[in-house]
Amino acid sequence: SFGSSREKNGRRILVFVRVRPLAKKETEAGARCCVRIVDRRDVYLTEFAAEKDYLRLKRLRGRHFTFDASFPDSASQQEVYSATTSELVEAVLQGRNGSVFCYGATGAGKTYTMLGTVESPGVMVLAIKDLFSKIRIRSCDGNHAVHLSYLEVYNETVRDLLSPGRHLVLREDKQGIVAAGLTKYRAYSTDEVMALLQQGNRNRTTEPTRANETSSRSHAILQVLVEYRVRDAAMNIINKMGKLSLIDLAGSERALATDQRSIRSLEGANINRSLLALSSCINALVEGKKHIPYRNSKLTQLLKDSLGGSCNTVMIANISPSNLSFGENQNTLHWADRAK
Ligand code: ADP
Ligand code: MG
Repeated sequence: SFGSSREKNGRRILVFVRVRPLAKKETEAGARCCVRIVDRRDVYLTEFAAEKDYLRLKRLRGRHFTFDASFPDSASQQEVYSATTSELVEAVLQGRNGSVFCYGATGAGKTYTMLGTVESPGVMVLAIKDLFSKIRIRSCDGNHAVHLSYLEVYNETVRDLLSPGRHLVLREDKQGIVAAGLTKYRAYSTDEVMALLQQGNRNRTTEPTRANETSSRSHAILQVLVEYRVRDAAMNIINKMGKLSLIDLAGSERALATDQRSIRSLEGANINRSLLALSSCINALVEGKKHIPYRNSKLTQLLKDSLGGSCNTVMIANISPSNLSFGENQNTLHWADRAK
C-alpha cells in the first residue's frame, strides 16, 4: 500500500502521474494517444498507437518512467484523492503539515485534479469533505476549528483570492512566514466550500492576451488550517495546529529548464521564478542537502513550513495523452522523475 511505502522511505516525496482523457477536439483534429499506463505504475510514451513493445521502450531513453502510482484516464477523482492525499489529511489532524502539488503544462489537467467540477469535485474539495467527516467521527465537542485561505502567486506578487484585489505582503514572525492580512474563512461544512473555491478560482489573474483563460503563470494555493486542543499528561490544555497546502501550479511549459545553470540563465528572461525555485527546493530536499533555498521566491517562502522537514509532500504530475504533447509530456515526466 502507499502507507507502508511512505513509512519505509521516511520523508521521501511521493510522486504520482495522472493522464487526462483525450478531448473530443483533439480526437477530431487527428490526435492520437501516446501514453500507456501499465500495472498502475509504469508510464510509457509511445510513438504509434499500436506500439506495444514495452521491452524495447524500456531500453529507450525518456520513454519509460515509474512512479508511486500512475493513474490512467479512467481513474476517478475519488481514486486519485484516496491514493495521494487522504493520508495527509489524517496527518493534519495529528498536528502535522503537508502539501500536495499539481505540476504540468497548461491544459494537462491540474485544475481539474485540484478543484474539479461540481459533478466531479477534485482533491481540494474531497480533502475538506474527508477532513470534516474525520473530525465528526473523532469528536462531537466542537474541538476542531477549520480555516481556509486561498491565495495566488502571480509574477512574484501574492494576492488574496477570497478578497480579490488585495495584494499581500509576506512577513516573517514567530510562526514563520505569513501573508499579512490574508482572509481566513472559517468553514463549518463542505457544502459552501466548492462555491467558495470556484469563485476564488475565477479571481485568478488572467493573461491580457487570453482574457477568458486563467493564467498559465499563476499558482493557486489553498491552505487548510486545523486548530484543536488536547490535554497533556498533567491535564493542561495544549493548542495544536496542522496545515495542509494544496497547490495548483502555473503551467510548466515555460520552465522546462531543470539544471541549475540553465535556471540561472532563464531567470532574467522573466520565466516563472516561483516554479523554478520550487524545483530547486525539491531537488535539494531529494538530494538530502542541508540548505534548502526557500528564500528564492514567494511560492517557496509561503510553503517553507509545509515542504521538507517532517512534512509530507506529494507531487501529482498531470499529462495529456495526445501525441501533439509528446515533448511536454516527456519534460513533465523527467521533472517528476527527479522529484522521487
Ligand atoms: P490545466 O489546469 O492543467 O491547465 P485543466 O484542468 O483546465 O488543465 O484541464 C484542461 C481540460 O481538460 C479541461 O476542460 C478539463 O475539464 C479537462 N480535463 C482535465 N483532466 C480531466 C480528467 N481527468 N477527466 C476529464 N476531463 C479532464
Ligand atoms: Mg488550470
